[in-house]
Amino acid sequence: EKSYNIYIGHNLETTIIDFFKAQKYSQKALIITDTNIAPLYADSVKDLLTKAGFNAKIAIIPAGEQSKSLSVAETLYTQAIEQGLDRKSPIIALGGGVVGDLAGFIAATFMRGVPFIQMPTSLLAQVDSSVGGKVAVNHALGKNLIGAFYQPQAVFMDLEMMKTLPTREISTGLGEVIKYGFIYDHDFYTYLTEHQQEILQLKPEALIHIIARSCEIKADVVSKDECEAGLRAILNFGHTLGHAIEKETNYAVYNHGEAVAIGMVGASKLSFKLGLISQDVVDKMCQLLANMNLPLKAKNCDAQKIYQDIFHDKKTVNGKINWVLLEDIGKVCIKKDVPEKLVKETILEIL
Ligand code: NAD
Ligand code: ZN
Repeated sequence: EKSYNIYIGHNLETTIIDFFKAQKYSQKALIITDTNIAPLYADSVKDLLTKAGFNAKIAIIPAGEQSKSLSVAETLYTQAIEQGLDRKSPIIALGGGVVGDLAGFIAATFMRGVPFIQMPTSLLAQVDSSVGGKVAVNHALGKNLIGAFYQPQAVFMDLEMMKTLPTREISTGLGEVIKYGFIYDHDFYTYLTEHQQEILQLKPEALIHIIARSCEIKADVVSKDECEAGLRAILNFGHTLGHAIEKETNYAVYNHGEAVAIGMVGASKLSFKLGLISQDVVDKMCQLLANMNLPLKAKNCDAQKIYQDIFHDKKTVNGKINWVLLEDIGKVCIKKDVPEKLVKETILEIL
C-alpha cells in the first residue's frame, strides 16, 4: 500500500501549490464541490491550481446526501469527459463527506482510476471520511452500497475553512472524535474532557490535536485491516444503532454524528448490561457527548423498527450482528451472540 501525506493547518497555500507542481499529473483537473462550499472556497482552490500550472474546472453538486447518487455521478463523468480529463488528470474533492465519497468514487472509476486529492472541509470529513480509502455512492435501497476502496494521493485540511462550518456540523464531527477515544485511546478521551471549551471554540491548537489524533487512530486501525476483516469493525462502534436511527428518521432529523452519538450511548448501555463495564463508563460517555452538544436519545423512533433495521445493516453477516462493545474507556471487544432481550431493553432506553 502506497502511503500519502495528510496536511493539517492554516495557510496551506504554498504546500498545496508545491504538491501539485511536484506531481506528474496532466494539466487538466476537476474540482468537485457542493453549492455551499463553492461560493466560499472554490475560486481560491482553483487559483492555487492555476498557480501550480493546472487548468482546473469547478463542478458543483447540490449540497446534501441526495447528491451521493449514480445519477449525480453520471453528470460528473460527463463534465470530466467534456473538460478533456485523461488518466493522469487529478480529481480534487473540496467539501464534506458527501463530496469526498462521491468525488472519490468518480476518481476510482473514471478511466479505471485517476489521481485523487482530498480537501475535506467538514470536521467529519477531516476526522473520518477522508481517511481510510472508502468511497461510495448510495442506492435508493441503501446507503453506500456501491463503492470501492480508493486511496487519495494527498489530503489537505485547511482549518481556516472550519470557521464557516455550521456549529451543528462541528458537533457531528465530534461524535466520531469521541468514538476514537472510547474505542482506542484513554488518553485521548482524557484530552477531550479536559479541552472541551477550546475544542468547541475551535482553538487552532486543540483542533489540530483532535484532528491529527483522530486521523492517526483511524489510519492505524485501517492499516492493520485494509479490507475490513476484523479490526476495522471497531470503527463501527455506535454505528449499528446509529444507522438504524438515521434510517428510521429518514435521514432528516439526526445527521450521522448525532445518530452515532445515540448509538454509542446504546452500545455503552449494552456493554454495561453484559457486565463488561461499570455504570461509571456509561455516565462518562453520556457526559462527554452532552458537553459536545450531542443528543443522547432519539425522539420519535419506533423501537420495533429499529430492532428490525439493525439486522439489515450492511455490516450484518448471516443475520448475526457484530456488536462492538466497550470493555473500558479505550478498549472494545466484538460480540456476536448478544441476547435479544438485552438489545430490546437497550433500544427502549435510547428512545
Ligand atoms: P456533508 O458533506 O453533507 O457536509 C455537511 C454540510 O456542511 C453540508 O451542507 C456542506 O455543504 C457543509 N459544509 C461542509 N464544509 C463546510 C464549510 N467549511 N463551511 C460551510 N459549510 C460547509 O456531510 P459530512 O458530515 O461532511 O459527511 C457525511 C457523509 O460522509 C455521509 O455521506 C457519510 O456516508 C460519509 N462518510 C464516509 C465515510 C468514509 O469512510 N468514506 C466515513 C464517514 C462518513
Ligand atoms: Zn461514522
